[in-house]
Amino acid sequence: MNKAFCKEPDASLPPRCPACGGDGVQVMPQTLAAHVGPAAVESLAEPAYFCAGDTCPVAYFDLLERTIATAAAHGLPWPKDPAGPLCACHGLTVDDVDRDLAEGVPTRVRAVVRKAGEPGADCAIRSADGRSCVARVQRFYMRRRGAAGG
Ligand SMILES: [Zn+2]
Repeated sequence: MNKAFCKEPDASLPPRCPACGGDGVQVMPQTLAAHVGPAAVESLAEPAYFCAGDTCPVAYFDLLERTIATAAAHGLPWPKDPAGPLCACHGLTVDDVDRDLAEGVPTRVRAVVRKAGEPGADCAIRSADGRSCVARVQRFYMRRRGAAGG
């Protein structure tokens, strides 16, 4: 068998979102169930993936390219939901970060980053992608600070 003609799927690559082609983030069934209704949970096969695309209208999808729209999901964080919280677990919002920037000391951001690292942080369920919110919080903080010219 000539190996050159065998196109093997690379198992190390995350599956792609059928809508935007972005990387999928595998989520636990509990995470999915926390953000969509029971009927929507049933519509996807396990494992389910969260689309990490900022503006993609797809929230979750499976390997058969069935999708759940962001409009059909709830509790999605910024930037998927522009008005959503940065960290649903600890309630950090876009306004909190702006307050930190206005004060010149990231008090609220630091508190959430510290809490998210503690045992018992339930980001795995409450965060839409099942990941810690720290990366998202930092990303938004840096972006906002850059926009403010600081
Ligand atoms: Zn997508």
